[in-house]
Amino acid sequence: MTVLIQNTCIASENSPALTSGDVLVENGTITAIGLDLAIPAGARVIDARGRILMPGMFDAHVHFREPGFETKETIATGSEAAINGGVTGVVMMPNTSPALDSPTVVASVLETARRNARIPVLTSGCITKGREGKELAALDGMRALGVRMLTDDGDTTADPALLWRAMQYAGEFGMFFASHCEVAELAGPRALNDGVTSYRLGIKGSPACAEEIIIDRDIRLAHATGAHIHIQHVSSKLGMETIRWWKSRGDVRVTAEVSPHHLLFNEEHIGDFDTHYKMNPPLRTRADNEALVQGLIEGVFDLIATDHAPHTPFEKSQDFISAPNGITGLDTALVSLYHHFVTSGVFGWDLLVKRYSAEPRRLMGLPVASIAVGEAADMVLFDPDGESTFTAEFMRSKSRNTPFLDQTLRGRVELVLLGREILLDR
Ligand SMILES: [Zn+2]
Repeated sequence: MTVLIQNTCIASENSPALTSGDVLVENGTITAIGLDLAIPAGARVIDARGRILMPGMFDAHVHFREPGFETKETIATGSEAAINGGVTGVVMMPNTSPALDSPTVVASVLETARRNARIPVLTSGCITKGREGKELAALDGMRALGVRMLTDDGDTTADPALLWRAMQYAGEFGMFFASHCEVAELAGPRALNDGVTSYRLGIKGSPACAEEIIIDRDIRLAHATGAHIHIQHVSSKLGMETIRWWKSRGDVRVTAEVSPHHLLFNEEHIGDFDTHYKMNPPLRTRADNEALVQGLIEGVFDLIATDHAPHTPFEKSQDFISAPNGITGLDTALVSLYHHFVTSGVFGWDLLVKRYSAEPRRLMGLPVASIAVGEAADMVLFDPDGESTFTAEFMRSKSRNTPFLDQTLRGRVELVLLGREILLDR
């Protein structure tokens, strides 16, 4: 297959300026970039005037719910939601049923992904058996299948001695730890932030320190054992500052991620019990939003990850305390980040590509996608002047639990090209 993308503007992590030109893709590889490239015989020609061509995004934190919760999402529907949002690779979290804590389960998930997904679907593995925090999972067996990220996401590994042991053991063979940070006893029912909204709604809130204590504890454990720690979905200013301080010391391998919803929303959005704003860690305050955006720009957060967490409409229509935590993110992340931050100049395409495409791949030890001659084709064509309306029909996720439901935002993913295949063509 030969595709010539004409008159496009190319985004890269290395420069805020876009470069214009034509991009030629032959048999899955970028073979030429330049002005007025000749049209090869039989090529599909795409007029991409006014469009931005960027590397495919990569999401290092998604919940695909298979095995065990296929009414919410499957590996097939989750990966289609990713493609719909311009995402060409993901890392699954292990809180499935059974949990991804053994080579047998991991192998079966990877096999399903090979069969049913059109993008690379990687998986993390549990730190402890069944994510119960009691016994170490089969770390070495999962490593042999290519698992690099270990996490009990959904919960903190409560026992620091166990995590210490895991870090000493697995840190040596190139695995790293991803921490969902939360002191369960402090977090309470985990429904929302301890603050004005919890007070107004009369629900016991989860204080930010429940998260910040574990952020510090887990980085400290990594510092002591030499392991690499990755802090997941940071929600508070003090959490960001804790990571910034540890990074400034330069003597611990720490990376961190932030989710679009923690950049964009805060507890005020909950209004009167809107469960589309219920997630864990909870939305905090406007001051936290601002600090997290600052942390993203500074590089305290290496990457953006959605924590894509599908739940059925029935589950999310329960009362605020009973409804499960989480919102979907893959269909909407790129457009919503563009709409809210790039159009207003808070940050540019270079930062978005760096934090949502390049750095997550680096974290996983994968080659970084880029629009350059000789690179494998892994690209998204984006219309900055177009619009996306996130109707139920638009979304490819099996679930619809997103605050963006039925909203229209600026920006549109028009085409996704991966290797020899056009995965999306709107
Ligand atoms: Zn989590």
